[in-house]
Amino acid sequence: MSYTFPKSAELFARAQHSIAGGVNSGIRKMEAPVPLYFDHGQGSRLFDVDGNEYIDFQIGQGAILYGHAPAGLADAIGAQAHKGTHWAAQSELEIDVAERLQKMIPGAERVRFNNSATEVVLSALRLARAHTGRSLILKFEGHYHGWGDEGLVGYAPPPDQWGTPENPTRLHPSKGVIPEVLGTFVVARWNDPEHLRQRVAEHHDQIAAIIFEPVLCNTGCMPAVPGMIETIRELCDANGIVMIADETITGFRFGAGCAQKHLGFTPDLTILGKAIGGGVPFAALVGKEKFFAKIMSGEVVHAGTLNANPLCLAAAKWCLDQVIELGDKHPAGMIALGEQLMAGLSKLAAQNNIPLRPQGAGLVFHAMMLKPGAQEGPVTNYRDYVLRQDAPRWAHLRRCLLEEGVRAIERGLWFISLAHTQADIDEALERAALAFARHAA
Ligand code: PLP
Repeated sequence: MSYTFPKSAELFARAQHSIAGGVNSGIRKMEAPVPLYFDHGQGSRLFDVDGNEYIDFQIGQGAILYGHAPAGLADAIGAQAHKGTHWAAQSELEIDVAERLQKMIPGAERVRFNNSATEVVLSALRLARAHTGRSLILKFEGHYHGWGDEGLVGYAPPPDQWGTPENPTRLHPSKGVIPEVLGTFVVARWNDPEHLRQRVAEHHDQIAAIIFEPVLCNTGCMPAVPGMIETIRELCDANGIVMIADETITGFRFGAGCAQKHLGFTPDLTILGKAIGGGVPFAALVGKEKFFAKIMSGEVVHAGTLNANPLCLAAAKWCLDQVIELGDKHPAGMIALGEQLMAGLSKLAAQNNIPLRPQGAGLVFHAMMLKPGAQEGPVTNYRDYVLRQDAPRWAHLRRCLLEEGVRAIERGLWFISLAHTQADIDEALERAALAFARHAA
């Protein structure tokens, strides 16, 4: 098949004259051979301006849990648009959405809305600091919490900026990030409960919060090892630290109760984004009432002109109704499809002598391209991931996949949505077979 992208190339060239760098989010520039321009989506499929059809496993970086353009979502947004797009005031819709979250998520006693998870992270950290009167935040190397200065600490430091394994405190190499922000963070290794205990012991009475992705999806796909989340909960309880689960990716993907119910833990605060709005700019902070006290009293500023925007609320209400109807059972079907895709990709990799190793939770997984001679076996932390992965070779395979109509995320992540079917997986593997053969040639 091998797609070409002349119209996307033409639009990208035109965009250079108005949009800085041609894109509106840095990662989009990584799409090779050219950032794609889309015309429309339907279900599991995306259609670009060149008329190419993709089986989409990127699904809006995880936001499109319900598939592209479901009729009910379009109707909900359209109906609201006719009544007004923004009032900067209250609406019954915001209570409807908040009550749904309370019903779905254990521990969601109170709720506040923002437009992006990046903003919600900032709210959560501010609240935790105000609640405890402490300033340090503990986070894990490789975990991403939005693009604010604080969210980037320790996210993707290159090896020449790594600290010692005992003290892995380094900034993301983004220019313009305030270096002093490092002084307000303690960074720990993911999936190493003993190391975490040491890090907390060093600073226990100064740490306001521990923030983490329950299934690390922004650096490979690394579920927590047994004991990891239990240790976070135990250390938070023992030291008066606020436990913040960043469920921006995992929220609703793992069922109505999110990853926390699926994995059996209750955080103090939870960050929700992406799937909560099905592709509109909407995000929420939920958690126990006592942690919201300083927002409720007005001592902590939480603001936003477009917060609880009725257009987004109408979308969120529709999305949450889908998840409530499916309950906590829907992950099973998505996991089964994802595992089939992982197994199929592994088989194709073996047939073509390509060192590709899918790893993850089925409904979201990462396909790791190993460097020659790299150690086999599960990848469990950030440094392991950086040291073992062959990023240029994956980029080439991804491009071949794209040219055959299979779209995965630039860094190797694959999402299954509720719109994917058995036929999609079968067809994706048929198309992938062509891509793998071309890559190996
Ligand atoms: N937290 C996590 C775990 C994320 O994956 C992301 C985005 O990918 C964010 C926070 C930031 O979300 P947003 O891009 O909506 O601001």
